[in-house]
Amino acid sequence: MRADAPQSRRYLLGLSAVTLTMAAVLIASLLFDFAQRRAIEQNLARNYDSVTALVFQMEREFLRFRSSLEAGVEHSDPPSLQELSLRYDILLSRMQLVRASPSVSVLESRPEYQQVLPRLEALLAPAEAYWSGNTPQTVQMRELLLALEALGPSVQSLSLAANSRVTRLLEEQTQTMLHQNTLVVTLTSAMLVLMLVSAAALIRRHYDQQRENAQLKALSDSLWEKSMQAQASNDAKSEFLAHMSHEIRTPMNGIIGFTDVVLDTPLEASQRAHLEKVKRSAQSLMVIINEILDFSKVEAGHIALESLPLHWEAWAEEVLHTSAFEARRKGLVFSTHFAPDLPTDALGDPGRLGQVLSNLCNNAVKFTAQGTVTVLTELLAADAQGYHLQFTVHDTGLGIAPEKQADIFNAFSQADSSTTRQFGGTGLGLAICTRLVERMGGRLWVQSTPGQGSRFMFTVRLARGQAVQARQADETPQPPCPPAQAPMPGDAQRPMAILLVEDNPINQLLAQTVVKNMGHSITTAHSGEEAIALFANQTWDAVLMDIQMPGMSGLQATAQLRAQEKPGEHTPIIATTAGAMQADRAACLAAGMDDYLSKPYTPKALRDLLARLHPAPAASSAESEVAGS
Ligand code: ADP
Repeated sequence: MRADAPQSRRYLLGLSAVTLTMAAVLIASLLFDFAQRRAIEQNLARNYDSVTALVFQMEREFLRFRSSLEAGVEHSDPPSLQELSLRYDILLSRMQLVRASPSVSVLESRPEYQQVLPRLEALLAPAEAYWSGNTPQTVQMRELLLALEALGPSVQSLSLAANSRVTRLLEEQTQTMLHQNTLVVTLTSAMLVLMLVSAAALIRRHYDQQRENAQLKALSDSLWEKSMQAQASNDAKSEFLAHMSHEIRTPMNGIIGFTDVVLDTPLEASQRAHLEKVKRSAQSLMVIINEILDFSKVEAGHIALESLPLHWEAWAEEVLHTSAFEARRKGLVFSTHFAPDLPTDALGDPGRLGQVLSNLCNNAVKFTAQGTVTVLTELLAADAQGYHLQFTVHDTGLGIAPEKQADIFNAFSQADSSTTRQFGGTGLGLAICTRLVERMGGRLWVQSTPGQGSRFMFTVRLARGQAVQARQADETPQPPCPPAQAPMPGDAQRPMAILLVEDNPINQLLAQTVVKNMGHSITTAHSGEEAIALFANQTWDAVLMDIQMPGMSGLQATAQLRAQEKPGEHTPIIATTAGAMQADRAACLAAGMDDYLSKPYTPKALRDLLARLHPAPAASSAESEVAGS
């Protein structure tokens, strides 16, 4: 492409040169035309051929006068003398006409002209007196006649000279005009050639450009196709990652679940310690799998942001308690400052906003050995559309080298491999956060000094909604794991009839083991269709519903179960799914489910959830009402 610039410069220069040459040829051709025109005008003014006629007429009158003189000499009678006198006058007038004519200039250099006319004039000057007296002077007239007869050939030669001179001049002019005409024809031909060359160059250029355009179009088509292919393969990769993460989560559910089941049994100390290690490793693996799943969703653009009221205090408590706990465990000072003017009517996605803030806080705690971790939230601006907020997480930890600061926001990128070995992590957290923050209309950036600490900042835009009151403690969104004060095994809780809807045999076995260990009965439906049939025949205290099943999904099955219920009936349905996202939870609740248990769930989480749905002592009447209906 770049090579085209000098080529098109050369082309322009060539075209300019051809145009200038054509202009020069045109000017020269015009000049020749002009010269021709002047020559023709001059010819018209001079009227060369008139001199021939004048000299011829003079010769004729010379001959007539000589004849009349001869008659006068012979007869000397009055009529012939009168004729002679008339011829004399005519001859003189013809001679004067020759002298006065401008065209005579062509003869002035000729000896015939220089000699004949003066001699004739000299002969004729005294002649009139010869015949105008009473007696004609015959002797003088005879002498004049003799002189005129002697001059006759010279007068004839003057006429011939005039003829030949004029003919010569006309020939010369014709030659000149022919020459000029040849030049004009040559110049016009040259111009024609130049025009043809320019036209050919233009046509070639046109075809070259058409070819280049076609090449460019082909290139852009192929780039578009490649980008589509890249997009498709990226989508396929994201789909694959999401699918694989899900597939990995299912057996992980078995590993963690059965580890918990075994941990609930009497064990030797070393066995318990080893199993605790298995459980922690599995949990670390789950964190990694969750991040990969989340990143693949974010990359594929499969995240839908919620627009919910934000209760700042409750939200901060929920988002920051893990980091705060870990900070205290490490002996760090963990402090939060929420500006008093934070809007109470802001709408946003509490889950995604919390995910970003907790990721930054976890990193700050992870990479800080001593000192402080501080969280600041402030309102930057408010307008009719909504709010612009800034969050800052400041730590006094390791810091990040300047040349690494841009890299860490890329996927799978970490500032320092030695710290990675020490602290673990996938290098996906900040990449996910960056994309989430951008989706929320803001940006994420860092200021950091190695050895002194880091300051991560991000902004978001939030819409305006209806003002909310500070949330009461019991109004906080229920996390998948219920409160710690839920009943423990052995608490008074009547045995329940649980319907498990699950296609995976390991998950079936795990749920059966956990539920039976709690003293409840459990019946397994292997598909949504089977669940519908079982639901119609028996009353259940709760349904544990898997979401992703072949054939009818858990969401579809739930909708059908709800449709089967009579007015006033309500069987608690709990979603159990390997999907870990806030959006999954929202979809489950929207489909008519009562709660949500993210796989892998611990026996404790299930126990607490069931206890919350059917509290043993206080809500027994309500419980029996539901169970008995
Ligand atoms: P992960 O922490 O899982 O490796 P992140 O994307 O969250 O992935 O972080 C990428 C890298 O950025 C980290 O590995 C670390 O090198 C660096 N980093 C992030 N936060 C901090 C911090 N507060 N202090 C020092 N380094 C940090």
